[in-house]
Amino acid sequence: MSSTVNVKALKSEGKIAEIKRSLSAMEHLSSGTLLKRMKACGNPRCHCASDLAARHGPYYEWSYLKGGKLRHRTLTPEQADIMRLAIANHRKAKKLLRAWEAQTLHLIELKAPK
Ligand SMILES: [Zn+2]
Repeated sequence: MSSTVNVKALKSEGKIAEIKRSLSAMEHLSSGTLLKRMKACGNPRCHCASDLAARHGPYYEWSYLKGGKLRHRTLTPEQADIMRLAIANHRKAKKLLRAWEAQTLHLIELKAPK
């Protein structure tokens, strides 16, 4: 390998090491989306029936795909806090995996015999 190729390979390997560190620093990971919503209870005599601001909540709803079907689940505020981070991590992890793929391809091309 030429020294230029070596330098490029080292740089690429450094980027991969960085990606691995970022991934291993993640505690929770989840796909899906989180919605914060207010609900009307359905009781016609409740304030929520006539006043949007009097609706109940907030409720946290996590939507996710399972077996190709969209599912919904209500979470407590505490669960929602964790889920919010887990979803952000999932987005970040997907981005990191794409970068890892790109660096791997880069290395393969660098190391190919000319
Ligand atoms: Zn109500």
